[in-house]
Amino acid sequence: MTSQRTRERLIQRLKEEGIRDYKVLEAIRNTPRHIFIEEALASRAYEDTALPIGHGQTISQPYIVARMTELLLEKGPLDTVLEVGTGSGYQTAILSRLVNRVYSVERIEALQLQARKRFQALGLRNIRLRHSDGGMGLPEYAPFDGILVTAAPEGIPLALVSQLKPGGIMVLPVGNQSEQVLVRVLKTNEGYQKEILEQVIFVPLLGGVQ
Ligand code: SAH
Repeated sequence: MTSQRTRERLIQRLKEEGIRDYKVLEAIRNTPRHIFIEEALASRAYEDTALPIGHGQTISQPYIVARMTELLLEKGPLDTVLEVGTGSGYQTAILSRLVNRVYSVERIEALQLQARKRFQALGLRNIRLRHSDGGMGLPEYAPFDGILVTAAPEGIPLALVSQLKPGGIMVLPVGNQSEQVLVRVLKTNEGYQKEILEQVIFVPLLGGVQ
């Protein structure tokens, strides 16, 4: 089956799972996921499942990428977004089609270098990558309209909340390796509000860089 047809099946499945934002579905339709994973696994690229990307990390399940992106954009379009945990770069590529500029930080340099090549191959030019500990955010480019974290801290990192504009949104998994929930944070003038959404499983947000 051609990758276009398998991709179309994935879109159908995401709709069935409750993804409604057509712009998000369109970004997924237009972004080849198979180039974000190693060749040996490429035939599984359009299954709705997480896959290993080396270094003990995983490319997120398409449903989770779609859901987190939808939650981030639900209250209106965003100009600048910080992503913590570039990994394969798939989520970054989806974001780059939906917002003006994406900053993405990754602590494993080898993953960051591979992701950079993929963005070049796809002609995505509004992405800025940084090899650093994303738990600290990216103060020199803050504040951001949105932050999306793709590895789980045990609590909401206040350094990241402080790098959101008032009215800004952060979507992140919070918890340990046995229990995690997806959380949406809304930055207010006084502090922040949080909404707890569904149960998820992410790799842990670790400190330091490799
Ligand atoms: N969005 C990615 C998810 C990759 S898994 C994808 O779909 O491919 C999460 C990533 O977060 C891993 O690559 C891991 O190395 C990275 N990570 C974990 N802790 C981090 C930290 N403190 N700073 C930056 N990246 C981190």
